[in-house]
Amino acid sequence: HSKDRGRNTYNFYTSQMNNDMNRRLRVEEQLRSALKRNELEVYFQPFVDIKSRKIVGGEALLRWNNTLLGQVTPDEFIPIAEQTGLIVSIGQYVIEIAFAAAKKWQQTYDPHFKIAVNVSPKQFRENTFVDMLKIQIDKYKINVNSIELEITEGVLLSGDSVIDSNLTSINDIGVSISMDDFGTGYSSLSYLRSYPFDTLKVDKSFINDITVDPGDLQLVGAAIAMGHGLNLKVVAEGIETEEQYQLLNALKCDYGQGYLFSKPLPQPAFEKLLQTQVENELANNLVSH
Ligand code: C2E
Ligand code: MG
Ligand code: MG
Ligand code: MG
Repeated sequence: HSKDRGRNTYNFYTSQMNNDMNRRLRVEEQLRSALKRNELEVYFQPFVDIKSRKIVGGEALLRWNNTLLGQVTPDEFIPIAEQTGLIVSIGQYVIEIAFAAAKKWQQTYDPHFKIAVNVSPKQFRENTFVDMLKIQIDKYKINVNSIELEITEGVLLSGDSVIDSNLTSINDIGVSISMDDFGTGYSSLSYLRSYPFDTLKVDKSFINDITVDPGDLQLVGAAIAMGHGLNLKVVAEGIETEEQYQLLNALKCDYGQGYLFSKPLPQPAFEKLLQTQVENELANNLVSH
């Protein structure tokens, strides 16, 4: 009996592994030509100044719609892009689209409008990364101080010397560096001490239960206080309710991002949102004068 069960378990796992493998290979194969087929779209999710609730910037987030696979989430395809090296060309594409959009928004809306872009470990380890970044900055003539590159601990883990020199160069040209998903890694604190971060993005898993879990509330409060003590701006990710917002406002968090304000949107919808904000401001000014 136990032998049978053993064999069944074994078969179960191999077929599951087989399915996973097939899926992975199919995703990889399709991803290889996704850029060329124009299937990758850059969405933007606004982030707001906590106190005023005003949109002050947007984070570029990739979306992929493939004819065979349908919609594939970034949590599935980004790791594959990373392992295959495809992330280098895909990442450059995101930067181009994001900077082109930011240039437009800085001209028409706010010269300090911020643009945040996620950068993965493989991209950051390229010794051409900083040159590529400078070329894109020159090309789109966007305000250097408005750019935020979001990296996770994974970028720093390798201990590669290229990482250090890239971080220093990026800091020198005035581009900001955010620690994304803060609190979920192993060594966030020691990295904060050693690297020139400008912003902490507190992971949404800490924000989720902030209204019901006193421990999470304490942790988020401590992260904000520590960030401010180190002269960093603090962003809360994944704000979904008014109650969460009120707590974060009371804790003096600087910026907020989440479905309460808006989901990630295609560029035209994001621009409509900005336009609405401008119109509301004009209307408020008329009322108050
Ligand atoms: P991230 O950089 O931490 O981005 C935040 C994620 O949280 C996004 O998921 C966003 O849609 C989601 N989110 C925002 N507000 C809320 C909320 O209120 N509730 C909930 N439940 N979720 C919220 P998304 O777009 O699926 O991206 C997942 C991850 O994929 C990103 O996490 C980032 O690590 C990676 N990613 C996405 N686009 C890119 C890219 O262009 N380059 C690289 N290297 N990574 C990317
Ligand atoms: Mg991010
Ligand atoms: Mg995050
Ligand atoms: Mg993440």
